[in-house]
Amino acid sequence: MLSLKEIKTILRSADNPELLNEIQSRAEAITIQNVGPAIYLRALIEFSNICGCNCYYCGIRKSNPFPQRYLMKSKEIIHLAVSAAKQGFTSLVLQSGERKDPAFIKLTEQIIREIKKETQTKYLPKGLGITLSVGEQTQETYQRFFEAGAHRYLLRIETSSPKLFTLIHPPEQTYTSRLRALKNLKAIGYQVGTGVMIGLPSQTLEDLAADIQFFQDIDIDMIGMGPYLPHPDTPMNCWSNETRARQESIYHLSLAMIAAARLCCPKTNIASTTALQTIAPGGRIQGLRFGANVLMPQTTPSSIRANYLLYEGKPCSDENSEQSLHELEKQVLSIGRKLSLDKWGDSLRFQERKLAHQSILKN
Ligand code: SAH
Repeated sequence: MLSLKEIKTILRSADNPELLNEIQSRAEAITIQNVGPAIYLRALIEFSNICGCNCYYCGIRKSNPFPQRYLMKSKEIIHLAVSAAKQGFTSLVLQSGERKDPAFIKLTEQIIREIKKETQTKYLPKGLGITLSVGEQTQETYQRFFEAGAHRYLLRIETSSPKLFTLIHPPEQTYTSRLRALKNLKAIGYQVGTGVMIGLPSQTLEDLAADIQFFQDIDIDMIGMGPYLPHPDTPMNCWSNETRARQESIYHLSLAMIAAARLCCPKTNIASTTALQTIAPGGRIQGLRFGANVLMPQTTPSSIRANYLLYEGKPCSDENSEQSLHELEKQVLSIGRKLSLDKWGDSLRFQERKLAHQSILKN
């Protein structure tokens, strides 16, 4: 465990190229030592942008009238999933806006079951691994999704500071309820991922260091973080000029955050996110050098992806063609790592905790 002070020292190195280099080497060594050189891939399918929430930062928030709202047809989603498996992906992330109505829940459950059924016997290992990311749901709903076959869930805390959380969300979305959702997911048996946005207005270095401690404290299995990127049609747009002026330092801070997360949670799966690539070309590969071991290439067809703009400048290029997978492989090899295409790539921290729990029960 690192102290808050030690974490802050790591984050401060973001301002100093030499120190940042040192942190990079340390984080890379710890990564290889703990999770090995393998990079796990998740095909990201953003299957709907219909959302009942009004997060002040998010481009697909309910009150933004501009995006054309869509819900992909089940058949299309399953087809995408199977094509991803054919290409060599072993896992996928199903993400969408947050809806809690019975029709959506039923549909999501059916899609999970169907993807499992379609890929179970044809693709190793045990079909596609499914990570779900459909926001806050009741424990009963999370249970249904789990039983249908999803075994990992991503739900970002967005910031571990309750005060900052309140500033960036409307009053009906509470920090307590987000925390409860994370606890419920863990209790059900999911591998749970969380994360934060970096460079939020009024966010301090202290807040970010506390975020890293939060990951340690709740013993999280997976981490996904990225820079906050303003979207013009959101209430937080008024801060965008300030944020743009700080882009380079937010980028370096994001890399330092990944390194700090790796040093504090050595066996977690850490994603190098699309937002990192958006703030700086090559950012996603840099994220891997600073301690990440998961990539989530976008697989949503580009024609509809344009409507899933969480932030400005989100790339819309296709990343699921064989050619781009090959390109990705080349980039990963160039930094001395390799793509893992023969297993789900579950969180080692999760497996470690499960084993410890079993041995307690045995004794
Ligand atoms: N509805 C789901 C998933 C969609 S949003 C959920 O709430 O979990 C996925 C993530 O995108 C959010 O958790 C948030 O951290 C990130 N995001 C949204 N708007 C963003 C922005 N303007 N800049 C950077 N990241 C953003």
